[in-house]
Amino acid sequence: MNRRYRKTVIAGNWKMNKTAAEARTLIDELKPLIAKVKWCDIVLCVPFVDIPAAIKAAKGSKIAIGAQNVHFEKSGAYTGEISAEMLAGLGVKYVIIGHSERRQFFLETDDTVNKKVVSALEAGLRPIICVGESLEQRDQNVTLDQIRLQVKIALKGISAKELKKVIFAYEPIWAIGTGRTATCEQANEVCDNIRACLREIYGARAARSVTIQYGGSMNAKNAKDLLAQEDIDGGLIGGASLKANDFSQIIDAANQ
Ligand code: PEP
Repeated sequence: MNRRYRKTVIAGNWKMNKTAAEARTLIDELKPLIAKVKWCDIVLCVPFVDIPAAIKAAKGSKIAIGAQNVHFEKSGAYTGEISAEMLAGLGVKYVIIGHSERRQFFLETDDTVNKKVVSALEAGLRPIICVGESLEQRDQNVTLDQIRLQVKIALKGISAKELKKVIFAYEPIWAIGTGRTATCEQANEVCDNIRACLREIYGARAARSVTIQYGGSMNAKNAKDLLAQEDIDGGLIGGASLKANDFSQIIDAANQ
C-alpha cells in the first residue's frame, strides 16, 4: 500500500452466494465490526438480485455496493442482461469486470471487457478490472506479457481522467478459490508491472494514483503481508468475504 498516492480498497466478491435475506444478515453482522475503519474503502459485490436489499442494509455505513458483471449495451434485446445505467440507478457504485470465472465459463474476452469498462464509466460506475494468468502461462514464463495485453486492451479509448475511477485486481487464476496464494513477491511483481504499463500509457502521475488489488485466496492470515507490499493497494476477496468475521479481519489488516 502507498496511501500517499492512492486509496486502499477491500472488495468482497460473493459470487453466486447468499439470498437477499442472507445478504441483509451478513451486512448487519459486518457493520459494527467495521464501524471504526478509516483508511480503507469497503465494497461488497453481491449477486444482482441482492442489490436492493444490500444497499438498504449498508445505508449509513462505510460499505459501498458493487455488482459482479454488467452488459456493455445501454438497453435492447439482450435477454437476461443488466446495463450499467440500471445498476447506477439502484445506487450501485462499483462493478467487477472480466473476472476469470466470467472469462472461463461465459466466454468473455479482452474486447468485451473493454466495452464493459467503457459503459461502466459512462454510467458513473467504478470498474474493478480483473486480470490474471493461468498456471500454464506462469510456467511458460509469459505472465507479464499476458497481463500487459489484458491491461492495454481493457483500457482502449479510456482517458487519463477516466482512469482515476478505474481499479485493477490482479488475480492469478491458479490462486482463485484454491487456497493457494501468490507469494508477496509474485503478487507485487505483477502489480508493479500493471502500474508500469499504466505509466507508459498515461504517465507517472496518473499511474501512481491507481488502486491495484491482489485477489486469490486472500484471508485473515496472509492479508497483512500482501497488503504491506508497495504496489498492492487492497484485495478482491471471494471465499473469505462470505463471513463477516473473516472479512472484517482482512479489512482490519488494510486499515493499519
Ligand atoms: C475471487 O473470486 O475474486 C477470489 C479472489 O476468490 P478467493 O478469494 O476465494 O480465491
